[in-house]
Amino acid sequence: MFIKKLNLMRRYLLAVILLLSLAPLKAQIVNEKPKLIVGIVVDQMRYDYLTRFWDQFGEEGFKRLVNNGFNFKNNHFNYVPTYTGPGHASVFTGTTPEYHGIIGNNWFDKFEGKTVYCAADESVQALGTKSEAGKMSPHRMKSTTFGDENRLHTQMKGKTIGVALKDRGAILPAGHTANAAYWFHGRDEAKWITSTYYMDELPEWVKDFNNSGKAKTYLKTWNTLKDINSYKESGVDENNFEFGYQGKKTATFPYDLKNLASENGEYELIKATPFGNDLTAEFAKAAVKGESLGQDEITDVLTLSFSSTDYVGHNFGVNSKEIQDTYLRLDLALADFLKYLDQTVGEGEYTIFLTADHGGVDVPSYLGSQKIPSGYFDDVTGNKRIEEFAREEFKVDSLIQNISNTQVFLDYEVLTEEGLEADEVQEKIAHYLLQQKNISRVYTREQLQSGSFTKGISSLIQNGFNQERSGDVVFVLDPGYIIYPEKGTTHGSGFIYDTHVPLIFFGKGIKHGSSLERTVIPNIAPTMSALLGNSFPDASTGKPLSIMLED
Ligand code: ZN
Ligand code: ZN
Ligand code: ZN
Repeated sequence: MFIKKLNLMRRYLLAVILLLSLAPLKAQIVNEKPKLIVGIVVDQMRYDYLTRFWDQFGEEGFKRLVNNGFNFKNNHFNYVPTYTGPGHASVFTGTTPEYHGIIGNNWFDKFEGKTVYCAADESVQALGTKSEAGKMSPHRMKSTTFGDENRLHTQMKGKTIGVALKDRGAILPAGHTANAAYWFHGRDEAKWITSTYYMDELPEWVKDFNNSGKAKTYLKTWNTLKDINSYKESGVDENNFEFGYQGKKTATFPYDLKNLASENGEYELIKATPFGNDLTAEFAKAAVKGESLGQDEITDVLTLSFSSTDYVGHNFGVNSKEIQDTYLRLDLALADFLKYLDQTVGEGEYTIFLTADHGGVDVPSYLGSQKIPSGYFDDVTGNKRIEEFAREEFKVDSLIQNISNTQVFLDYEVLTEEGLEADEVQEKIAHYLLQQKNISRVYTREQLQSGSFTKGISSLIQNGFNQERSGDVVFVLDPGYIIYPEKGTTHGSGFIYDTHVPLIFFGKGIKHGSSLERTVIPNIAPTMSALLGNSFPDASTGKPLSIMLED
């Protein structure tokens, strides 16, 4: 009797111990997922901005991410063209223009017979503005984002919200099933807007933000954050390589934005200064609060793109005091935003990645002044010459339908009418192009469709080539050459200055460390899907970065 009782007690104790030991395991499984994923894109951020300005950064912004998260130091875009639309689509879909179909910011649409904008959608209406600026949606993007997959996985309970000054920077990352994407309309309104693709009326928190007049306060004087003489990591303020703003003779600090606004698109000017990033961060905080992001166990996704870095880069160039100041200010905005997430979602409860949509080349005229091969390609004259060549060679007037994004589009109706062979025409145009100064490589549709390139610029061209949408001959300029005016800079090539961008992960589920192994942009989205245990985006070609995921 006594022994039996003891046995029972033992069994009871054993069961309790077993349950107790299981309890943390069960809790772990339930709490495994981050409450919120924040995918941050810094428009035109080169990798070396991280290292060049490192000593000037504070402890709580970029340094907090790198010092506690995982830093992929050799991360690249693996396709051409490296523009904003394709960049944002690729980061969040885990694939390249070959599959997601966003082959440029604008491209010639063969089926519509006109140039189209990547996010434009005539079938929807603008919301929150009197202008037409809001007729936008992700309808041209052919594949899903990791946010879309998270929506499907959670029976649409996990939210996705996209935020950026640029419409395409908000719309493409947030994907097809997004609850909302918001972008900024400056002009005479200074409002955050959306389209009827997402909703019929702006939520109260957006209306409140707009009515607060907060956006307008960013039209103030832009002076350097710290003493300009301490900015040893950039060139002199006054030089021959910067545009500056209309209405101010020199591109030098300080900039009185209020006075300059009338000549620079009124409130649009905010976008072209670091204050546009501050405004974006403030609106993102309002979105976290207004949408209750990261407040329960079902993971939400916030896509956040900082566009002002791109405007400042185009205007002043990679080596300018203005770009240095813009990054020091972004560092502060980032620190403040992280602190806000700690307070609202909870430290360690969210996961962040930070990357860019492309890099940018040093101003070619500056590079030239330092004896580095570089320069400018005159596309107006170049395009005329291609058309002339085609006219003379094939004795047909309108064989070439369009030349854009370094691609030549042939008119297939004319080809058929004239009994011309497409591959022969492509070959001859390619051969002609290769004779032109500063064009170093050419590819025909025939070549790109008949085999697989595995390395170098050739594979990048192929990854950016969409069989349905792209042109028939693609050409590549020499390194350091751009189609742009002789001040400021741009991007779009497959060279390192355009492909090498930061990739930092931080927060829940992320190990601390760094790697110099080459990684590519399409790895990001499947990594996020793997972290959440979701299906990968439907056309993803990248693979999860398992080296930094906790088991
Ligand atoms: Zn961009
Ligand atoms: Zn300057
Ligand atoms: Zn740009």
